[in-house]
Amino acid sequence: MLTFTDQRLRQRDFLLRLSRAMAAELDLAPLLELVIGQAVELLAGNYGLIALQGQDERLHIRVSVGIDKESWPLFEPFLASLREEGVDAPRVREELRTVAEALDLPLRQAIALPLRFGVKFLGLIVVFRAAINVAFSTDDRQLLSAFADHAAIAVHNAQLYEQALAEKQRLNSIIEHSADGVMILDSRWRIVAFNRAMEQLTGWPREEAIGRPCAEVLAIENDQGVNICLTACPLQCYPEDPNPVVEGWITTRDGRRRYIANSYSPTRDVQGRFLGAIANVHDLTARKQEEELQLTFISVMSHELKTPVSIIKGYADMLNRPDANWDRQTMREGLQVIEEEADRLGRLINDLLEVSRLQAGGLRLELTVWDLPLLVEKIVRAFAAQVGDQFEFQLRFPVDLPPVHADYERIRMVLTNLVSNAIKYSPEGGTIRIGGWRAGDQVLVYVSDQGVGIQPEDLPYIFDRFYRVDNRLTRETQGTGLGLYLTKAIVEAHGGRIWAESTPGRGSRFFFTLPAGPRPLPGDGEVLEQSAPQDEQEDAAREEQRGENATPAVGYRMAVDVIGLG
Ligand code: ADP
Repeated sequence: MLTFTDQRLRQRDFLLRLSRAMAAELDLAPLLELVIGQAVELLAGNYGLIALQGQDERLHIRVSVGIDKESWPLFEPFLASLREEGVDAPRVREELRTVAEALDLPLRQAIALPLRFGVKFLGLIVVFRAAINVAFSTDDRQLLSAFADHAAIAVHNAQLYEQALAEKQRLNSIIEHSADGVMILDSRWRIVAFNRAMEQLTGWPREEAIGRPCAEVLAIENDQGVNICLTACPLQCYPEDPNPVVEGWITTRDGRRRYIANSYSPTRDVQGRFLGAIANVHDLTARKQEEELQLTFISVMSHELKTPVSIIKGYADMLNRPDANWDRQTMREGLQVIEEEADRLGRLINDLLEVSRLQAGGLRLELTVWDLPLLVEKIVRAFAAQVGDQFEFQLRFPVDLPPVHADYERIRMVLTNLVSNAIKYSPEGGTIRIGGWRAGDQVLVYVSDQGVGIQPEDLPYIFDRFYRVDNRLTRETQGTGLGLYLTKAIVEAHGGRIWAESTPGRGSRFFFTLPAGPRPLPGDGEVLEQSAPQDEQEDAAREEQRGENATPAVGYRMAVDVIGLG
């Protein structure tokens, strides 16, 4: 027979082992399994459950012994009454009977152990017996309450751990889905976390970036190409700064150049020792390019505006000299230069206005239906008067070309830009052909020259803002690099497309499309002059573009072929 002391020792030993096992388990679900198993055994019960208080202040069953999960909702009124009125209340007994009958289980006696951590109520352990046993002794009650206290501490810890894990996952997910690049550094500036935006920004896969020094993955260079991260890491140079920022260029792993701003949030211990940092990386490439474009804009524009103004001023001063008596020829030449430079200035100002309209939110088109060849003819006549016989202009449009549905002034600008480029970039002169044909519900127009042409590596960029091919001719030719940018914007605003083809040294050909207008009624259109000889090469190119059989369609004839100029 056990003495009183033996029994106490056994109880203490049992509790000690149990509390060790419970303390070792940080995952809530297995811990609750362990607790309820032990509680049922300790109380010689047949069934049991643990219900924890949720954020809604209600009790939710989390684990059970001998009771199916599907039956848990049936226990809710019983648990609520138990909580509100205590074990001895008649309503509690009533609810227990209802559950027992509903489930057909011998739930004759219930023992409830509240789980409390300090003043905080965590939930209930309830053990059910199939037979009514004798009441508990004071010792039993002490053991049970000590058991419940240990279980409550373990449950509380596991809940905290669960919350910390959930919080960590939430933070990870925020970092992962942040649109900005985020990386976390340890105390030796090595990367320990690297989000998806960082992968996209730097081209480094996370698995390879993690563990490397930050200066290797994000080698930020200043404008002089010096790696600031190695020579002047702001975390090391400005330890007092709570939020140091570094800005500069990086070369991504796949060779792209990006301009970034990296702002650090360092963490330090109480002695001020560096523990690590969170780095927020913003991609500022677009802003930097915009700034550089603005600078280019200012220098190009000041040069381009100053040149015609000083030429006009020079000629006007010269012609106006009171002491000079200029002959008619000199006067005419001088005035012609003034007129040409004033035209150039006018075009430049128009371009500038269009660019600012574009930047202020798009172009507003005034669409009307009109005949394109007539406009082309007008433009060509104006240019021909300026360039003399160095150029031959050929216009090729079929008579049945439908009118276009477009903004007349804007398309005048497009054609003026293309023809003016064809002249500018053909230092030896040559033939400039302008023509077009119907292509489905569009009219396709081309402007071709026999000039210097464009190298294939420059072709993709010629429609970019301020892009000028870097060669001797371009350097010697006035220009802003805005003409083709605007031309493209105007064509695209019409729903059209523009592109160029070129054979360097032999010439370039620009194509664009515009929406065709409704066909004019018979007799509406102007009858244009009948053609002269066809250029076979041009026709072959046209047929190739049309993707049609080389035989001209019935009724196809040249509306305006060659305008003899010079
Ligand atoms: P720019 O004011 O310099 O003429 P554009 O935007 O009109 O600007 O043209 C951009 C660049 O494309 C030019 O600087 C030139 O190098 C090239 N380019 C445009 N048209 C032609 C052409 N017909 N032949 C050869 N090069 C051309």
